[in-house]
Formats: sequence, structure tokens, C-alpha cells
Amino acid sequence: MFSTEFLDLPPLQSASGTITLPGSKSISNRVLLLSALCQGTTVVHDILDSDDTRVMLAALRQLGCGVNEAGTTVTITGLGGQLQHTQPIEFFMGNAGTAMRPLTAALAVLGGDFTLKGVARMHERPIGDLVDALRLLGCHIEYLGNDGFPPLRIGKPTLKLDQPIQVRGDVSSQFLTALLMALPLAAKNRAIVIEVVGELISKPYIDITLNLLERFGIQVQRDGWQRFTIPAGSSYQSPKTIHVEADASSASYFIALGAIAADGPPVRIQGVGADSIQGDIRFMDAAAQMGAQITSGPNWLEVRRGAWPLKGIELDCNHIPDAAMTLAVMALYADSPTTLRNIASWRVKETDRIHAMATECRKLGAQVEESADWLKVYPLPKNQWKPASIHTYDDHRVAMCFSLAAFNAAHIPVRIEDPKCVAKTFPDYFEALFSITRADTPHIPVICIDGPTASGKGTLASRVAQALGYHYLDSGALYRITALAAIQTGLQLDAAHENTIADLARTLPVRFEGESVWLGSQDVSDAIRTEEAGMNASKVSVLPAVRTALVALQHSFQRLPGLLADGRDMGTVIFPHAPLKVYLTASAAQRAERRHKQLISKGISTTLDSLRADLEARDARDSNRSVAPLKPAQDALQLDNSQLSIEASVDQVLAWWRAKQPF
Ligand code: C5P
Repeated sequence: MFSTEFLDLPPLQSASGTITLPGSKSISNRVLLLSALCQGTTVVHDILDSDDTRVMLAALRQLGCGVNEAGTTVTITGLGGQLQHTQPIEFFMGNAGTAMRPLTAALAVLGGDFTLKGVARMHERPIGDLVDALRLLGCHIEYLGNDGFPPLRIGKPTLKLDQPIQVRGDVSSQFLTALLMALPLAAKNRAIVIEVVGELISKPYIDITLNLLERFGIQVQRDGWQRFTIPAGSSYQSPKTIHVEADASSASYFIALGAIAADGPPVRIQGVGADSIQGDIRFMDAAAQMGAQITSGPNWLEVRRGAWPLKGIELDCNHIPDAAMTLAVMALYADSPTTLRNIASWRVKETDRIHAMATECRKLGAQVEESADWLKVYPLPKNQWKPASIHTYDDHRVAMCFSLAAFNAAHIPVRIEDPKCVAKTFPDYFEALFSITRADTPHIPVICIDGPTASGKGTLASRVAQALGYHYLDSGALYRITALAAIQTGLQLDAAHENTIADLARTLPVRFEGESVWLGSQDVSDAIRTEEAGMNASKVSVLPAVRTALVALQHSFQRLPGLLADGRDMGTVIFPHAPLKVYLTASAAQRAERRHKQLISKGISTTLDSLRADLEARDARDSNRSVAPLKPAQDALQLDNSQLSIEASVDQVLAWWRAKQPF
């Protein structure tokens, strides 16, 4: 996840490849509960790992269900409608609405001695309408705090099932879902009727519930959206195996991506297909109308660019309120204006989404018109795109939508503020995006930080990389590893073995994983950090063939969204076109002192004098070698950090970087 203050998306060129979307939250928790209510074992694949599902799984374990987790597959052994034991149980629901509501209903019908609590915010989320309906049914539920809100205490019911059960539909459709999932437990001998009072909101979510009930053997009869009948004799049947669909709203960004940028091989979306039970899947029809070419199988979609530019459309979006936001950004790439109608609900979502989409599209240069319940976005011609810093309003969908603006023909980068807001539904959204998009290499920014040994390059470069969400190349480590590999092979580090060492370097099985460095299956993180390893690195680094052998590997680090490269020749040889080059220095005395402190703190005994002598020897060798000697690039900015704290140095580099950005 990118937890940076902002994320700069370089101009993106094309997209293709496969992404697997995270499972849908609503489907995951429904399927878990339904599996728990069945007899026997259900294997649930592709479950979403999120706060809500963890809460549900913990509750099911407490109830005595068998729960076996292996990656994204969970095997549930159900209760078969009977509780295993009768001791009181206290459940902690966190802030998981999709666990709290249906569990309340199921537990109230099953009966027992249960307490359900959550975090403070959960205790402010209404549950009164559900409790009212359950009480009418004969369930025993007490409020332990404020009336109408959790925490709750649940006892044993005296079920009265002859009257239709009434539930309000205009506050949350989750109340109806909860009843629909709980009442089959009581329908062995009689049909049960649920009547919705008031207009039912979020109908597509009820569709999901009905679909899943069917997969678990319950055929609910539906009369309009007002009356639902669970037939007599209903009983839960495990489907044995079930796949949780990916989130269809999340799919919209990748469908749009295919329509905009897959002009060769397609974008393949794994986890959801055209036959999805989620309402937002109908986004694919709208995207197709705008030009997307879509094919689909049971659990996948493939999307290519069809019409280009896209075609402007006019659409009633009531059935796809969340996914329709994506159309507003696709509209920038169309041949005529796009009007999205019947979207009043956007105004009361995470933020006022009509205002947000209009404001941010305008920042990009587009002409936009808005009203209480519609939005009209005009195409944005190539010469009118403007560099924009997109405000995201703590709204995951705004952030994901505007990432699609990086495909503009003007090759202008786009800044996304607060990128971590995508965590609400898709924590790794940007990683997924980068994994299937490509930029022209010169567009992928590189910041070089070169300088002598112990100048603090490594710390500075990795901190700047962290602040920008960029990759980090520690090129010194590559020379250190090469030297280590050569020594392990029994080679002398001299010119006589230049070509053999170069061959080793060219095929180094090196991997960087967080702070650790691996050579094949060997963790060499510590072995390459010794003074001796540094000295050995400096010996192999004077060999021209070794330097050449490492060039391709170093270039391969230039990946989206950008790179911080630290070394001796990053700015002069490896990335000569980098837009920012910093040459970091500090006096030899200062550097020796820093290294001394570092080693002492690691319990390694050494003297200041010997360190300084080593340092100067390495400086001399690095500066005097014939190939790629250590020196500032002509266009490098010099930073002497003898008197600067690390924070001050980081701020300086970030300030230089900011000054070069168009935002
Ligand atoms: O930066 P570090 O101390 O890890 O580098 C170890 C040695 O590798 C340096 O002393 C230098 O001789 C060599 N090196 C190089 N070119 C680079 C990075 C490191 O020659 N880009």
C-alpha cells in the first residue's frame, strides 16, 4: 500500500496482462455465515482478507464451527442449525457492519446467551429496525447501552411465525439481508413471510443475498421488492465448494483501463465474470457502449480498446451508482460529451461525489457541467490537459478513478493526493495498476544520489524513496554481492579473473525483500555490510567488464512509479538522463566518525584512524579508476551534509524534486 502524502503517476502508455481482484466484502461475509449455518463442510475459495471477514471468522470459531484457513481458502464445518454448547458467549464485532447485522439475526433465531459488542463507532450505528423485527418474531434481545444501538444481549426465543414479519427497508438493506439469512433456520415446518415497510434501498445487495441463498439451497419467493417468502421445508444445503466473486465495483477501473489503454493484448480481470451476482457488473455494458471490447467467462473478463477515441454517452446510472464514477474519467477520452443522469445519491456518499468529480476533472482542464443529480463531462483535447494534483476527499473511488487520467495523450503526469484512501476496498490498487501498465522508460522518473563511502547516501535515498513511494536501488549492494559471490566461488578479486567475475555478475540470483538481501537461497544482508565486504566491492568495481555486466540489472530497477538510485555513477553512467541528480558529500572526518558510531553500536570494535584510512583508500580507488570514476555529474546538485541532520537532507532533496514537478 502507498502511505505517502501523494503519489505521482508518470504518463502511462499502455496496459495488458492479468490482475486478480480482491474478493467482495459483502459476498465473503454472507458466504461465511451461510456455510456456518449448514450441515457439513464447505470450502470457500478467494475469501477477502479484511477486518470484516476476520471478525466474522472469529465469531464463527467462538460458536463452535470448524474454521480452517489456508491462504485465501477457508474450510468451514457448519453447525447444522444447532449450537454445540450452551455457555454464554461474548462476541467482539469491531466496526464490521457486515458481520454485526446478520449475526445478530442468526443468533437471535438460534437462541442462547450471547453478548455482541463493538468499537465505539459500532455503538453509534443503528440496529433498532432489525431488533424490532426480531422481537416481533419472538426473539429476546436487550440493549445494553442506548436503545436502538449495540451492544446487545441475546437470549432464547419463543418464535411466533404465523404473522408476516415486517422490516423497514429504507435505512439499511442489511436488516432484510440479516432476516433472509436467519429465518430459513425456522422454516422447517412452515413458510415464513417477510414484508418490507417503506421503499427498499440498495436492491442489488438483496439480489446478492437471494442469489447466495439459492446456492445454499434456499429458494426465496419474491413479490416485487415488498414481500419475500421462505417456503416451508427450507433447509440449508452446503454447496460443498464455493468461490467468492471479486468486487465488481473494483473491476470497473480495470475495465476502463482496458478500454483506454489495451490496444494490443487485453487486460484480463480474474475473479469476476459477466454472470456476476453484483449489480455493479452492469458497468461493463456502459463501458462497452463507450467503446470497450469485452469478452467474458465464468470467473473472468477480458477487455481491449475498441472504439478510439471512446464514444460519449448519455446514461441513467441509478443501477450502478459506485461504478459510474469511472465513466466520468473515461469521458475525458471520448469524442463527444458524456452525461451521467440520476446520480443524486453521489452527493451523500464518502464525499459529495458530483462536486468532487466535477472539481477534479476541471483541474485537469476539462469542461464540466453539474446539477443536483447529473454530471456532464466534455472530452479533453490533447493540447488542453493540465498537470493536476488530484484531491481525493478520503474517497477511495475518487483516487482510483483519477489514476486513469495518467493515460492522457499530452504525456502529463498526474498527482494523486493521499493515495492510501484506496485501502477501504482495495489496499493494493496502485500496485495492481502498475503491474499491468507500462510507461515509456524516459517517463519513469529516476532520482540519483551519488557520493563517496559513508556519506549517508543509503539512508537519504531510502528515506526519499519512502516519501515518494518509489523503488530503491542500492547499487553498492550489487558490487558487494558480486564480490561475495566471487569469493564464495574461490576467485581472486583481480583483473586476471575479470571475465569470470563479470559472468557471475551478469547472472547474479539477487533479490531485495524489504531490508533483506538474498543471493539465491542465502540471506546475505549481514555478510555484505561488513567493512571487508565494502573493500572487496571496491576491488571488483574497478573491473570494467564487471561494471558493464551489472548495467542491465541496474536499469531493470527503473519501474513504475519511479526510482531512487544510490551509488557512485548513477548520474554519470547508469541514468544519465535522470531529471534530478544529487551529489552528496561530507568531510572525511565526519564520515569516519559516523561509520565509527555505526560499528560501535553494532558491537564491532574499531578505531577512528583505521576507519578514516580505509575510507580514504576507497575514495581514492573509486575516484581514480579508469571506468566510471566517482565524480559529480555535470548537472548534479551538490549537498554537503557534514552539518545537516538526515531529516534536513531529506527535506532538501524533496524540495529540489518538488521544484522540478509541474504541479
Ligand atoms: O555504496 P557502497 O559502500 O555499498 O559501495 C561499495 C563499493 O562499491 C564502493 O566503494 C564502490 O567501489 C563500489 N560502487 C561503485 N559504483 C556504484 C556503487 C558502488 O563502484 N554505483
